[in-house]
Amino acid sequence: MIWAIGIDDTDYPDGGCTTWHANDLEELLVSLGAKPIERRLVRLWPFAVRRTRGNAALALIVEVDDRIKNDCLNLIRQWYDDLVEHIKQVDTNQHARPGLIIAIDGEMDSNIYWECVKNEYTDIERIRNHDSVVLILESDLGRDGLIGAAAAISWIPDSTSTFEGIAWRNESMYGTQRTAPNGVFKRLESKHPNTFMNRDPTKNRGLISPRTPCPVLFGVRGWNHDDTLEAMNDLSSLDWNEQIYATAIHRTNQCSDDHLEGIIDGTVMNIPIRNRGGHVTLDILTSSGVVHVVSFKEGGDVNREIGNSIPGDRIHVLGIFSPEGDLHIERFMRSYSSPGFLKRPDCECGGHLRTMGSKSDLRCKSCRKRMTSHWIAINRSNMGWVEPPVSSRRHLSMPISMMK
Ligand SMILES: [Zn+2]
Repeated sequence: MIWAIGIDDTDYPDGGCTTWHANDLEELLVSLGAKPIERRLVRLWPFAVRRTRGNAALALIVEVDDRIKNDCLNLIRQWYDDLVEHIKQVDTNQHARPGLIIAIDGEMDSNIYWECVKNEYTDIERIRNHDSVVLILESDLGRDGLIGAAAAISWIPDSTSTFEGIAWRNESMYGTQRTAPNGVFKRLESKHPNTFMNRDPTKNRGLISPRTPCPVLFGVRGWNHDDTLEAMNDLSSLDWNEQIYATAIHRTNQCSDDHLEGIIDGTVMNIPIRNRGGHVTLDILTSSGVVHVVSFKEGGDVNREIGNSIPGDRIHVLGIFSPEGDLHIERFMRSYSSPGFLKRPDCECGGHLRTMGSKSDLRCKSCRKRMTSHWIAINRSNMGWVEPPVSSRRHLSMPISMMK
């Protein structure tokens, strides 16, 4: 039979990483004869109250035949108990609440996934009572991890999946600085064009290594499995100034748009309000009522262009609703630009027409031609999709270059 083993909430601010714990467990299962099929890294709703870094849960898809089934179950129980004991000792802030669920692969209710990427999900009993569940492990630390674990195993990947190769460090290096090999970003760009978000060109900053004390040395994102694996192997052959403990490829829901509402069309109702801290707010009128739109300073072009909106503009926005009901913009386009602010017309001679004091006519300063006083609208052009700079994205929204 094929199991989907969901694991979540095993990391804590000072260390740990669910990807690493999943790797550890898979190695043990393989040593008993289980056959690994796929690892899945599933990002959840970014506003979840108890989210962890990046808010990602893991699923191991493994084939376990009947002869080793009980051995595997015993091993998983022991591994989980050891992990909980370890976390109790090192996670002084009591952050982690690990949960583990095994279900028959592909049989968990996929609606749980969709609820977990778009909302705060709380119905643990619905998970517990599902027919496909083989084993549930939870501890007295709390049950939050069960929700991410259930989300990871109820995800049914489709063609919007992306991939992430992850390399882990040896434990002795945790907390020390990572040294990227010279030329690693050029190498990715020239030799591995199907990888993405490796570097932020606007800040010339690498994005493959985290800056946290977690066990990850680097991660590389790609559009398909084989090219991601090839890039992973190539990078692993470089000199990182430390040994690589292990590597693995994960199928992910990153950049899938799964977390976003569909495209919302609306008409801008007011002049955008620029708030302290740089975020811009705006109301748009849609077919289902008024939507309060928020864009953040980190959004770069998105924030600037949203700030240039004027009443009457028609825009398409993609974003995520916050718990307060505001739409946080991930990308947008302006399909109709309302005629802009008014200005005086220019004279035929190229000179400027001005009003003549108290009289109502306009007069050209150059050729002295007169014209009845009036205003004309400033022309504004429509614009295609804009998105935040790559380092400010949350890895949930599909890059514009991949939109169909
Ligand atoms: Zn003139």
